[in-house]
Amino acid sequence: MDSIHIYKQVLSRLIAAVQKSSLAKNTKMMAVSKKRSTEEILEVYNQGHRNFGENYANELIEKSKVLPSDINWFMIGHLQTNKCKKLLEVKNLFAIESVDSFKLAEEINNQSKKLDRVTNIYIQVNISKETTKSGIAAEETEMLVQEIVSKCDNVKVTGLMSLGTLGSTEEFTAMYQLKQKICNTFGFSQEEFTVSIGTSDDFEEAIACGSDEVRIGSLLFEK
Ligand SMILES: *Cc1c(COP(=O)(O)O)cnc(C)c1O
Repeated sequence: MDSIHIYKQVLSRLIAAVQKSSLAKNTKMMAVSKKRSTEEILEVYNQGHRNFGENYANELIEKSKVLPSDINWFMIGHLQTNKCKKLLEVKNLFAIESVDSFKLAEEINNQSKKLDRVTNIYIQVNISKETTKSGIAAEETEMLVQEIVSKCDNVKVTGLMSLGTLGSTEEFTAMYQLKQKICNTFGFSQEEFTVSIGTSDDFEEAIACGSDEVRIGSLLFEK
């Protein structure tokens, strides 16, 4: 199948899943373009798609230099503090979704201050509790948000992200409930705050559990 058909097919599956879900309202799709060429990304861009996610800071930075400036870039991979400065120089960096420590949030805040920008961050939660996975424990999330909110003026916590056990509705539900708890505690709007759950192989289940953002890589790019 060509990329136009694949893109349309994924979008219509997403729309159907949202219509069926009593919890999801306006779920957005992020195209995960790690290791994909600029040509492959442009094929999706030319369908009108603007939200792209990358796992490696250097790759995001290099792609942002050659691809259209109206792309919204999302950093979804592990981020080292020494890469923050260069990454934040990308003007159309829309959000960093992989924040799992105060140290990292603080560095993003310091560099954002220097660049006179406010950076959207999501907290990455290790919802499956696997020791090999990155992310902060669900029980520690509220404390981390508290510290960021009270000390970091140049970052804005706008979401939660997890990459858990494939297709686990228990984990999706736990993430959805954590979003509600965080929003209630800090007075964030449920409509504006994002819970980013679900990938190529389980995005429909995630939408049924209330996902606001699904991150789709292989399904979109592997023909
Ligand atoms: C690669 C990746 C995805 C996309 O996974 P697919 O199975 O290819 O859709 C989503 N989120 C993160 C954090 C990833 O690293």
